[in-house]
Amino acid sequence: MKTEWLRQTIRDFEPYKVPEIQEHTIINANESPYNILDFPSVRADFLKGLDEIKSYRYPDPYAEDLRKALAGYVHCRPGQILATNGGDETISLILNTFINPGDTVLVHTPTFDIYGIDATVLGARVVHVPDDDGYCRNAEKLQQAIADMQPKVTFVCNPNNPTGSIWPVAVIEKLLQTADNIVVVDEAYLEFSGQDSVIPLMDRYDNLIVIRTLSKAFGLAGFRLGYGVAREDVIDALSLTKLSYHLNSVTQLMGCVAMKHRDEILGHNVPPTIGNRDYLERELSGFEGVTVYPSATNFILVRVPDGPALIAAMKKADICVRFYSAKDLQNCIRLTVTTRDVADRILAVFRSLYKEVAGRA
Ligand SMILES: *Cc1c(COP(=O)(O)O)cnc(C)c1O
Repeated sequence: MKTEWLRQTIRDFEPYKVPEIQEHTIINANESPYNILDFPSVRADFLKGLDEIKSYRYPDPYAEDLRKALAGYVHCRPGQILATNGGDETISLILNTFINPGDTVLVHTPTFDIYGIDATVLGARVVHVPDDDGYCRNAEKLQQAIADMQPKVTFVCNPNNPTGSIWPVAVIEKLLQTADNIVVVDEAYLEFSGQDSVIPLMDRYDNLIVIRTLSKAFGLAGFRLGYGVAREDVIDALSLTKLSYHLNSVTQLMGCVAMKHRDEILGHNVPPTIGNRDYLERELSGFEGVTVYPSATNFILVRVPDGPALIAAMKKADICVRFYSAKDLQNCIRLTVTTRDVADRILAVFRSLYKEVAGRA
């Protein structure tokens, strides 16, 4: 194949190679340790629904039942929801809807790579506002950048992946006030934060789009289900470029079942994750030379003196973690928080490499 055949904007993309994971404990992708089909109530309703699915029919193109169910969860109207193949599809639809080649997309950094990648494919100019030291996001700097550039789309990941930090709703509201264009708030991890969603702000700001997902707190990464929340006219605009029958019937069914049993699922999945996160944060911060960044999510970013040595030691302990090639994340490792047992194995690896600081609280 000739490289010239490729769309110009993707010619220097590296081929996406995922090395085969050999380790058995996989904590590199912020997946849940819990299987939704292990809830007897969920399993029974899902299997019953599966029996009624007519496989030869196309799925409902607007997933009306699912929108209603999701609207009940986030307290808005069904018309203010667009259900998608993971939050990733919402990101892609947003950019497809609003970006012309040459438009500016603004992101704080470090953050989720997909915003910049999808924007680059469309020929957007991606502008990064770097965090202050210690991965403190600088709201004034971001607000100033919005005011100066009026980017077509601004992405705010809240809580942020990979740093785990969270901004209060009031900070997001200032950004919405400053922006004349779309502000996307990605709340993929909100359920672990104990903080309220910014969704109610859409009553006052027509430029807000919120992204949510069932991949993390609901443990549904394999089913691919996320959603965008915005004013009705924005949701209608996002639907302009979506494939007609993008969301398959099985995913729509599982989404409805998950919403029906959401209290049970979240009540089971979230508190132990928060407990293990707090435990890991406390214990990890006791190692000499290790910096732990406070997290409002189901993962923890740590900086260690020698990243490659830690990754190798984790591998030896049969644990696969996330590390980064980006310069601003040098020697940083992201650990998904799962069970207490895995947390203790992580701590054992740290103990084998680093000294515990005596006399800590
Ligand atoms: C995981 C994640 C998503 C969405 O993932 P999907 O599996 O596509 O729903 C979106 N944003 C961030 C920051 C994430 O970490």
